[in-house]
Amino acid sequence: MVILYTLQNGDFINLKDIKIIKKEKVYVNLTNKCPCACTFCLRDTKEMVETNSLWLKREPSAQEIIGEFEKYDLDQFNEVIFCGYGEPTIRLYDIIEIAKYLKRRTNIPLRINTNGLADLIHKKDTAPLLEGLIDTVSISLNASNAEEYLRITRNKFGLESFDAMLKYAVNCKKYVPKVVFTVVDCIGEEEIKACQKVCDNIGIPLRVRPFE
Ligand code: SF4
Repeated sequence: MVILYTLQNGDFINLKDIKIIKKEKVYVNLTNKCPCACTFCLRDTKEMVETNSLWLKREPSAQEIIGEFEKYDLDQFNEVIFCGYGEPTIRLYDIIEIAKYLKRRTNIPLRINTNGLADLIHKKDTAPLLEGLIDTVSISLNASNAEEYLRITRNKFGLESFDAMLKYAVNCKKYVPKVVFTVVDCIGEEEIKACQKVCDNIGIPLRVRPFE
C-alpha cells in the first residue's frame, strides 16, 4: 500500500523507494472515496482499480500514517499535501489528527488539495477546524457557474454545491493563510476568463494548471 509518495517528472514514487530525500513534496494518500464523479476523473476506471498502486484497497488509519511519518526527519520535506485518488476531506478528522502530530514535529507547510465540498460532506462549517494546522487549501474550481460545475463534477449534492464550495473557500480565508483555486487549462480560454472573474469577485487567486 502506498501511503506517502512524492512526484518526480509527473510520476509518483513511493517514499519508501527513495534513498536520498531532498526537500520533496510529500503526498498523503488518504482515500479513494469522493462525492463527485468528475467527467475527467480516472478514479473509477477499471484500469485504475486493477493496475494503479495508488489505488487503496483499504484506507490507512491515521495512526498508520503517523507511523510512516515517524520514520523520517520531517525537515527533509518542503511541504506535506493531503490528497488521494478521492477527496481527502472525507477523512477530515484524520487529517486534523495527523496535522496536529506534524505541527508538533515540524514547521513545514501543510496543504489540502480538495474539491471544496467538505461542508456538504460533514454538514457543518468545517473551515474553523483547519486553524493553526493547515497552511494552504487548494480548491478545484472546475467551472464558472453552478450548472457547468454540476455538469463537470456530477457530484451528489446537486446545484447548491457550487455556492457551497465558494462559501467554503471564503470561510477558509479566515482560518488558513493561503487559499487558492485551480482549474485545468483544457476548459477553454473563455471559461478560464469567467473563472478568473469568479475568483476576483471573492478575492481568491486562480492557478491554471495543465491537464494531466
Ligand atoms: S473531485 Fe477529484 S477525486 Fe473526486 S471525482 Fe472529481 S477529480 Fe475525481
